[in-house]
Amino acid sequence: MADIETIVIGGGVIGLAIGRALAMRGAEVVVLERHERIGSETSSRNSEVIHAGLYYPPGSRRARLCVEGRHALYAFCAENGVPHRRCGKLLVATGDDEIAKLDAIAEVAQRNGVTDLRRLGPREARALEPDIACVAALLSPSTGIIDSHGLMAALDGHITSRGGQVVLKSEVVGLARTPVGDHAVSLRSGGEDATVVCRRLVVAAGHGGTALGRMIGAAKAGYVPPDTYPAKGHYFLLRGRSPFRHLVYPMPSGAWLGIHLTLDMAGAARFGPDLEWTREVDYAFGEAEGRRRVFEREIRRYWPGLPDASLVPGYTGVRPKIYREGEPAADFAIHGPAEHGVANLVALYGIESPGLTSCLAIAEEVADRLSAG
Ligand SMILES: Cc1cc2nc3c(=O)[nH]c(=O)nc-3n(C[C@H](O)[C@H](O)[C@H](O)COP(=O)(O)OP(=O)(O)OC[C@H]3O[C@@H](n4cnc5c(N)ncnc54)[C@H](O)[C@@H]3O)c2cc1C
Repeated sequence: MADIETIVIGGGVIGLAIGRALAMRGAEVVVLERHERIGSETSSRNSEVIHAGLYYPPGSRRARLCVEGRHALYAFCAENGVPHRRCGKLLVATGDDEIAKLDAIAEVAQRNGVTDLRRLGPREARALEPDIACVAALLSPSTGIIDSHGLMAALDGHITSRGGQVVLKSEVVGLARTPVGDHAVSLRSGGEDATVVCRRLVVAAGHGGTALGRMIGAAKAGYVPPDTYPAKGHYFLLRGRSPFRHLVYPMPSGAWLGIHLTLDMAGAARFGPDLEWTREVDYAFGEAEGRRRVFEREIRRYWPGLPDASLVPGYTGVRPKIYREGEPAADFAIHGPAEHGVANLVALYGIESPGLTSCLAIAEEVADRLSAG
């Protein structure tokens, strides 16, 4: 007999959103998180941008879940008092050679269901942001910012108010199947080892997903979970007041969005993230001077007035990519019985950006898949 109906492994924004969706549907849910706080990994080390859905290949999960997730997230924030602001974003072409790319992005966005973009000339862009330098821009009014900690606290609150639990300092170290097909989850919690049996299991463990995926004992011959390749991003903070009210993004390079300017809820500006493929997940900032020079060069392409010595090393985040450097960007991977052959199990991999924006839509998709068996 199962001890618990559903276990979700991972107390980041994705695991919490899934836990909430299941709890709202009346399921008995326990979310297990290895750290002493929710959202201590990728979910608290990102840009906190609510993306509109401009860039992702039409028809991909990232495109669909970003647009659906954005609508759901704005509604959730409004209903639950989560701090957020629909501040809008300018995507800027800084040379004539970038205009074709700008137009191509507008077309992709349209196909993704982003219907509110406005094409601006340089004068119109400067009317919105007097400090900006560009030859053309796209204004995305539905891009915004969110307090990710406020969001996670609200999700946590919904889980517990529906009788669910978020259990901290509990690391899952083993997974097995019982003879009746339930999931035996081995935990290390506060120095003690224990095994808990559940009927339905979700793996939403970010960087820990591949290790857990290898333990699920797939019923389908040949199933292997995707490998995870960490890719670090550094952020610099702007000393002093930001002259910008919108987010400002340069033209993307492949799947990397470039050194962009984002704002936090207090209006302070930060720049980043850059892209550094690494072997391990580590959050050290490392050497700052050379990196600062690169940031200054990139930022001055769209903000020539960036004052000298105004960038202060901030923090880093690490993307859980499921493709190698040089390979085409992968879609979100949401594996259910069709992929691994195990009933009542959904495992997620490669939930990088726009995962924060998409969290509520991802959660509904996972809850639907679990309901299907
Ligand atoms: C630099 C950067 C910038 C980004 N910017 C944006 C943005 O502006 N907008 C946007 O929409 N998205 C953005 N993203 C993406 C977004 O942050 C992620 O998609 C999202 O946070 C992923 O959440 P998660 O819950 O899957 O992962 P995590 O937050 O990493 O949570 C996974 C949790 O699982 C736990 N865990 C792992 N293994 C175990 C185990 N064995 N037992 C128990 N617990 C375990 C971990 O401790 C962790 O807390 C960005 C990402 C990065 C890296």
